[in-house]
Amino acid sequence: MTSESGTTLFLSLLAIWVSLQVWLARRQIDHVVANRNVVPLAFRNAISAEAHAKAADYTCAKQRFGLWQFGFGVLMLLAWTLGGGLAALNTTLLGFFGGDVATSGDLAYQVTLLLAFGLIGGLLDLPFDWYYNFRIEERFGFNRMTQRIWFVDLLKNLLVSLLIGAPLIAVVLWLMGTAGPAWWLWAWGFWMAFNLLLMVVYPLFIAPLFNEFKPLADEALAARVKALMDRCGFSAKGLFVMDGSKRSAQSNAYFTGIGHSKRVVFYDTLLARLSPGEVEAVLAHELGHFHHKHIIKMIVQIFLMSLLGLAALGFLAQQPEFYLGLGVTPNADAANDGLALALFTLVPPCVSFVLAPLSSRASRRHEFQADAYAKANANGDELASALVKLTEDNASTLTPDPLYVAFNYSHPPMVERIAAIKAG
Ligand SMILES: [Zn+2]
Repeated sequence: MTSESGTTLFLSLLAIWVSLQVWLARRQIDHVVANRNVVPLAFRNAISAEAHAKAADYTCAKQRFGLWQFGFGVLMLLAWTLGGGLAALNTTLLGFFGGDVATSGDLAYQVTLLLAFGLIGGLLDLPFDWYYNFRIEERFGFNRMTQRIWFVDLLKNLLVSLLIGAPLIAVVLWLMGTAGPAWWLWAWGFWMAFNLLLMVVYPLFIAPLFNEFKPLADEALAARVKALMDRCGFSAKGLFVMDGSKRSAQSNAYFTGIGHSKRVVFYDTLLARLSPGEVEAVLAHELGHFHHKHIIKMIVQIFLMSLLGLAALGFLAQQPEFYLGLGVTPNADAANDGLALALFTLVPPCVSFVLAPLSSRASRRHEFQADAYAKANANGDELASALVKLTEDNASTLTPDPLYVAFNYSHPPMVERIAAIKAG
């Protein structure tokens, strides 16, 4: 393949990806707007016309904003690659590191290249994040963040990313430079070990940097939850309440961690809103994911995808056309691994979107199974009423476009979920 045909392939994939995303988003907006004034029959008693209209407006506002952000992301992708952004950054850093690059084993230069690349991308995304929280979420009454919390979060994120990211990048680059042609297999092993470690470390050390976690104080509820977990043969090290209300009025509950860091986390907003029976049903749904081994299946799937991706990178990093086709001239006297990694973080979305319908469908099937498990081990009516409350509180639309759902929904539309819970 020549570099020109590489560029043509890249631009063709990009064009298909962009057209598809825009088309799906337009469909979703049109469908939600068309159904804005009619609450679906099964929800007439539970969801008011006002709440239904609010959910439609919120969905459309997010979708439109998402389109702007997506468009900007595509422009950035083009600017980094064919626009010469990455090439310019590379030239600047090579000049800065000077003649040392060839002798110092390149590592400092390459790590700097990737950190600068990540930092610039992150900075350019900041205005979008700010606008989303303080304009869109604010307008619909969901934002609880002050500008100060937003800024402090930003600094903490930056610090954690640097502390974890810099050594991680250095090890991967070192493997690329020293482990021979099969470096990608070593890098994969290292990456998997790192991810497993992160699953232990995250709930214990990283999440508490951003939120406060207190043991569940409501003893009656704790006893009820523990009884459910005993019934389902499940052990977790603790039940925690998180101050989710610090940032958002929306609510959630989740399992996190593996081994000794395994725990159940409830948002304070969720406990404030749901009855004990409903909390139990929501938790039973989460236990259903464990019972059906959805988490393990997902981890295995991610591991396999990473292996495929790294194998592809192992091949592509050796091809000059890969760099040239994406607008970067490979270095003559310095290693190209940093450039290859940077390009490799940019390109996958233009390819992996073809898998979206498959992974979304698998995920939706898992949700149905978890609902059925909750119905069998807790109470279907409580689960249904909890889901209706969460739908209303989070202003999720009841009337999404079916094709948009097929591509993008990890959870089935609420109308289908409630119908499945009520049936049989
Ligand atoms: Zn679920």
